Amino acid sequence: MTQLQAAKAGLITPAMEAVAKDENVTPEAVREAVASGRAVIPLNPAHRGVRPTGVGRLFKTKINANLGRSPTRSGIGDELVKLEVALNAGAEFVMDLSVGSNKGAEEIRRELREIRQGMLDKSPAPLGTVPIYETISRLDGDIPVMDPKYLLDVIREQAEQGVDFMTLHAGLLRAHLPLTMKRKMGIVSRGGAIMAEWMKQHNEENPLYTHWDEVLDILAEHDVTVSLGDGLRPGCLADASDEAQFAELSVLGELVKRCRERGVQVMVEGPGHIPFSQIQDNMERETEVCDGAPFYVLGPIVTDIGAGHDHIVAAIGATAAATYGASLLCYVTPAEHLGLPDATEVHQGCIAFRIAAHAGDVARGLPGAREADDAMSDARFNFDWDTQFKMALDPCTARTRWQQTRAERGKTTHDDDHCSMCGKAFCAVRTSRRMREGL
Ligand code: SF4
Repeated sequence: MTQLQAAKAGLITPAMEAVAKDENVTPEAVREAVASGRAVIPLNPAHRGVRPTGVGRLFKTKINANLGRSPTRSGIGDELVKLEVALNAGAEFVMDLSVGSNKGAEEIRRELREIRQGMLDKSPAPLGTVPIYETISRLDGDIPVMDPKYLLDVIREQAEQGVDFMTLHAGLLRAHLPLTMKRKMGIVSRGGAIMAEWMKQHNEENPLYTHWDEVLDILAEHDVTVSLGDGLRPGCLADASDEAQFAELSVLGELVKRCRERGVQVMVEGPGHIPFSQIQDNMERETEVCDGAPFYVLGPIVTDIGAGHDHIVAAIGATAAATYGASLLCYVTPAEHLGLPDATEVHQGCIAFRIAAHAGDVARGLPGAREADDAMSDARFNFDWDTQFKMALDPCTARTRWQQTRAERGKTTHDDDHCSMCGKAFCAVRTSRRMREGL
């Protein structure tokens, strides 16, 4: 029985109990949210040691870190280091997007399986994949030769191995392809571009769409959550909120319904590159079209010219997304659009997105979200540096930076009632405290 089937049957599972405890809500509230499809708990029983984590507007906004090697860079060792960095930086979900080529189908299958198993063994965070990546990797990048049955085999193998959620680009249809021709950037989703090329070469419908019932049977058997991929997400501001994007969204709404009827948990992926002013409308539209299914957004990236700093660009968009409707934020690193991120960039991306997720929770008034901010303010006013570091989303960086400045100035603990930003005489907090003490 999947979490959704259990919830619909009125059962509260141990996973729902665990989520309720983490989120400070009642188990019945979690069950209701899962039963209605407004929340999911991606959790494949074959993933040993996975931590039940809720995604939905009832809960804190979560972040996902994309990991995985490219055909030209990195391997299992590097990716496991990045996994540890991402988990330490607070990523609640991780995805293995590894691909490979030029080694023969069986060798690629073995390598990708090994990387995935390494991540499953080391990650208490639910693990996601994009099965079309492995499928095409095994075919050495030859998209047209893909037999849909082969794709289903890969989905089944990954589900059996313990993958908790899968991105499937099933909503991009043949009829949508002409809508992308006038776009500045065409199709920028890797999975979307693969499905589009296959449809064009075969002059047939998207095989994930035509085989959707078989896909759902596999996912239901292993309680794998579907993350409906946005194959037509805009890749630049000029393409945002266009006909192609919304045509796919309407199919995603139909697929959400079919997932729920089959008892498969489902969330929906969203844009992409979107001007800040369009984010609220995009979030509200998804909520309406997909009947409140949790929205999992990539960014959004709010300007196309932040190369080298796209974690900041995307965190700005993600804050608005979290405020207006998203439940899971896929991080963006400073390496976005430029290369495969290294461990430092993974850390920077995670922290930027934890800030965005938290800022969104505060802005939407999630109960309890502001407690940490208030505790930080008290600690700042009291020059309680240890508590300040404890409350910071990145304690290590905060403490290291403070200690560095302090050491440079040769300070002692007696001088800790100010910092080098304003200096003792100009420290506004110190002056404010003196004024208060004198009243
Ligand atoms: S010196 Fe300036 S920045 Fe530092 S604690 Fe005082 S008011 Fe804050």
